[in-house]
Amino acid sequence: MSATLHDVSTFAEIETELRAFEAAERRRLGLAEAEIERWHDPNPQLFERARRRETTILVGGLTCAHDAFVQAALEGVGYCVEVLDCPDAAALHVGKEFGNRGQCNPTYFTVGNLVKRLTQLRDGDGLSVREINERYVFVTAGACGPCRFGTYATEYRKALRDAGFDGFRVLLFQQTGGLRQALGDGGGLDFTPRVFLQLVKAFVAGDVLNALGYRIRPYEVQPGATDAALATAQQTVCTALRQRRSIMRALRHCRRLLAAVEVNRLQPKPLVMIIGEFWAMTTEGDGNYRLQRFLESEGAEVHVQPLTAWLLYLIWQARHDVRRRLTLNGADAGQKGLAGRHGRRLLCRLWIAERSLRILFQVFARAAGLRHYVLADMQAIADLARDHYDVELRGGEGHMEVGKLIECVQKQKAHLVISVKPFGCMPSSGVSDGIQSAVMARHPEAAFCAVETTGDGEVNFQSRVQMYLFKARQSARAEFECAQQKLGLPADEARRRYASRHRSSLRHPQHVVAGTGANQLYEL
Ligand code: SF4
Repeated sequence: MSATLHDVSTFAEIETELRAFEAAERRRLGLAEAEIERWHDPNPQLFERARRRETTILVGGLTCAHDAFVQAALEGVGYCVEVLDCPDAAALHVGKEFGNRGQCNPTYFTVGNLVKRLTQLRDGDGLSVREINERYVFVTAGACGPCRFGTYATEYRKALRDAGFDGFRVLLFQQTGGLRQALGDGGGLDFTPRVFLQLVKAFVAGDVLNALGYRIRPYEVQPGATDAALATAQQTVCTALRQRRSIMRALRHCRRLLAAVEVNRLQPKPLVMIIGEFWAMTTEGDGNYRLQRFLESEGAEVHVQPLTAWLLYLIWQARHDVRRRLTLNGADAGQKGLAGRHGRRLLCRLWIAERSLRILFQVFARAAGLRHYVLADMQAIADLARDHYDVELRGGEGHMEVGKLIECVQKQKAHLVISVKPFGCMPSSGVSDGIQSAVMARHPEAAFCAVETTGDGEVNFQSRVQMYLFKARQSARAEFECAQQKLGLPADEARRRYASRHRSSLRHPQHVVAGTGANQLYEL
């Protein structure tokens, strides 16, 4: 070294000197390394308003109904939209081939699915990469969070470059970015309040139809009748969204279609609630091994989480944060701080947003014939979870998963709760493997099954679920027999009363216990 420690005054100087020394030694020993060229994300975002008509927006990643409704809603306001197929195992393999190591698997599924489609455009439809880059953009949700969700867009672009689609545009819709967002330089995709409202309607209508489907299908007398009615119902809603006609009228039409499905609810079927990481519990493909359909094929009734609950959670987060900031001594000038903003007015707006969303949901639910469906109270969920999980922790579903399990046990909402987490998911693993064990110790009556989806462990996954289903079936049967005994209602008489007044698929019984069959007996 050319200087002694007494001569240098800062750590930075020591660092510089050490690096120079290391470089000199490497050269002397013949260990000099070639300069590494690091990948830099150029982040192409150009999407001009004038090119809207010639640009196809690729979307996907929600349930099939939601994806179709989002497409129709955006087409209704002048965009050209294509829905990607539901991600399958082939998409996962493509994603793993081109993605970085160590990602959580929604990234692999999503980017693999996108690369699959682009490859098909290039190799099947004969488009050049330049044409694809000019004519297509991919839009997905993003957020700055403590988990890897915040890095998704960059991961996608890295995989796209390695797959030969360098320069392909990935535009992020910030889920906490509020009402007014413009995506793409040049305002190509402008989330005006009108567009936003159309999208919210699409989400809520998707939730309502999905909830009806999951309620009716397990009890249908004619196999396939529910899916056939739902397919027509979806078309009806899509047409209404595309032509910007009344969704209410469309949903009333759906109600008539679904009411025609004949059901027999006098059956003790286990009710299984699916919770967990957002993407893994929402997708209907190989991302969770088609869990919803698998459970139904095993004789269960499924309760899925509506997208509206996620929107309510985002609003809850914003309200919670504003309330906390209002307790600070001075205005916080951070990105989401209250400096220059009126905190109480903001709280009021968020309250209105929540009320409006709940009202919209109930109005749509009533139009479509979805009875006795209660959206979660996010404050109550947070209060239930607080003792076990810090509600300030974000990432994944945050405290929601914990609160939902406790609520489910306390209110007897399901015979079994399945938490799905993707392989490599940090927040979900901490919750379902760690915190939920403590919850189970305090609530030993809880039937909880945490399952991980790697994309290649279908048999293990399903046999684990089957084990828990066995117990859930027993609970449902015991509950049904208990209701029969309490009511002293012979089976023949129950069938007679059911056939005379309760057969409509939309006459869902009020909640008394978890099982629909037992609830139906109480309602008779
Ligand atoms: S919640 Fe889990 S799976 Fe989802 S982005 Fe974060 S780390 Fe990945």
